[in-house]
Amino acid sequence: MLNVYLAPRSFRAPVPPEAAQTALLTWLSDEEIVGPFADGAYSPGRSASRLFHADALDSFLPAELTFDALRIVRSPKPRFLPERAGKSFPEASCLGCGDTLDSEKVKEALDRLKYVAPERFGVSCPGCRSALTLRTVDFGQNVAVAAYWIFIEGAGLGRLSPSTVERLSRVIGMPLIYIPETTDEEVADWVPARRERRR
Ligand SMILES: [Zn+2]
Repeated sequence: MLNVYLAPRSFRAPVPPEAAQTALLTWLSDEEIVGPFADGAYSPGRSASRLFHADALDSFLPAELTFDALRIVRSPKPRFLPERAGKSFPEASCLGCGDTLDSEKVKEALDRLKYVAPERFGVSCPGCRSALTLRTVDFGQNVAVAAYWIFIEGAGLGRLSPSTVERLSRVIGMPLIYIPETTDEEVADWVPARRERRR
């Protein structure tokens, strides 16, 4: 299952004020991106496909561009996203020198974030020997540290529409980025398989 997070770009973003959170949900319902709310989640609305990147229409039918559930998540303390347990980042590299990092060490440092604050994340670069932080590692995909985010479960596609993300950022009052729980490589593996099935 493909899950996507929409979270503040800034690692230090505060939880948005109630009024902004309400404005976001009003916008999502008015635009019919979300439908009714039940059991802590919103179901997809009639225009749920607007969440997704227009390029996706080459590979997916509009009816496939939907999601299972959309949840608003508030965490008492900031968390690293994506939070899929045991997730590894084989492509992680040093932003300074570009060297690939030891993926086991990156995974261990991320696992430690269950117990320590995100600022205490640390791995060392085998190339330039720098002590790296979450900000100086290129994970090969978007990541975030957030206490408030939107979680889209069972998304038809990991790539969201840039204009919808920009609009949501304006409504909530802070820049948002989308974070796939699955890497682009994994998604690329799926798309040809889907095309194959539709022939
Ligand atoms: Zn380096």
